[in-house]
Amino acid sequence: ELKKADRLSHIGVSEILTITQRAVAMRAAGRPMIILGAGEPDFDTPDNIKEAACQAIARGETGYTALGGTPRFREAIRHKYQHENGLTFDLAEIMGATGAKQVIYNAMAATLDEGDEVLVPAPYWTSYIDIIRFCGGVPVCIPTQEENGFCLTPAQLERHITPRTRWLFLNSPSNPTGSAYTEAALGELAAILRRNPAVNVLSDDIYEHIAYDGFVPRNILQVAPDLRGQVLLVNGVSKAYAMTGWRIGFAAGPRAMIDAMLVVQSQTTSCPCSISQAATVEALTGPQDSVRTCVQAFSQRRDLVVDSLNAIDGIHCLRPKGAFYAFASCRDLIGRRTPHGQVIASDSDFMAYLMAHDVAVVPGSCFGTEGYFRISYAASAENLQTAMARIQSACAQLA
Ligand code: PLP
Repeated sequence: ELKKADRLSHIGVSEILTITQRAVAMRAAGRPMIILGAGEPDFDTPDNIKEAACQAIARGETGYTALGGTPRFREAIRHKYQHENGLTFDLAEIMGATGAKQVIYNAMAATLDEGDEVLVPAPYWTSYIDIIRFCGGVPVCIPTQEENGFCLTPAQLERHITPRTRWLFLNSPSNPTGSAYTEAALGELAAILRRNPAVNVLSDDIYEHIAYDGFVPRNILQVAPDLRGQVLLVNGVSKAYAMTGWRIGFAAGPRAMIDAMLVVQSQTTSCPCSISQAATVEALTGPQDSVRTCVQAFSQRRDLVVDSLNAIDGIHCLRPKGAFYAFASCRDLIGRRTPHGQVIASDSDFMAYLMAHDVAVVPGSCFGTEGYFRISYAASAENLQTAMARIQSACAQLA
């Protein structure tokens, strides 16, 4: 048997992937599964972006690039921050990587020593915890409350800071809840961080463009520009431009931090894919109408899903401000019995029960918050409608 590294002992393949694989196998076996597990837009990458990649290939841009990406690529990222966020960065304060996931990995690998603490508000994107552990850190989960819109309160932040705290993670709009911080809420957190200059903030803004009802998400640096020495902005093209497979994420932050992250990158992937970098230049600087079209579609699907869920006895769900997830409570269903006499004792049991009704969702426990389930509404309206009818009928059979 393979002797695995100790550092692998606390991490594993994401449970979401396992659930999805199970649903895919059931579909292959002939079941009409509707899979609402994946965090991936169901749109194709816009044609102008694909074309930019083809042109890069034709021009022969097929070699290694500078570690953090070509100057043109980093210039496009600088342009994005200047025009969309009103933030000015030098090219040396910007780097690209193979997805936002690698950006986060680089940041943790470059800064964490064994036992260093990282504050992660729950519910959280599962990978945060695994990446922190992989890099020797200790994730300190802070449960947020539905009554607070699943946002971290200043008192909670203050209570959890210790001399070992190196980072606070913020993700707004959030996976899995779709909640987002207001400028006022960010301002209050900033006041505490200002008094704790050793605590850095990793602001994961990957869902920045996917926001509804006219809401424009802001990051903490836009609200508190004086925290510049403490904030690493993380973003990418996966979600806004339907480019998950191109694997491009990027970061902007203090030069010393970017330099350290580049050292990690130099010994892991060398640089992000040259062709994907060229595609990203077009995504960030070309026409933005595809983003608006996607957000419009997501917005209608959000209403469909949230209204249907809230009409079911035993389920309730906040209306997300952004991202493409609904995070619904199934706490009132816990303790009820299925027609076969089995008790639904947890959100995982509820997930398995829905799976038997041909709908795959992800239990809240995967995100550090039991009693909930997450639906990704990055699926066709037709599939969502069918899935909602199945969930409704499944719940009606519980007694
Ligand atoms: N951050 C959050 C909150 C996410 O949900 C995801 C993807 O699911 C990522 C980061 C990673 O995105 P990528 O590595 O594709 O850029």
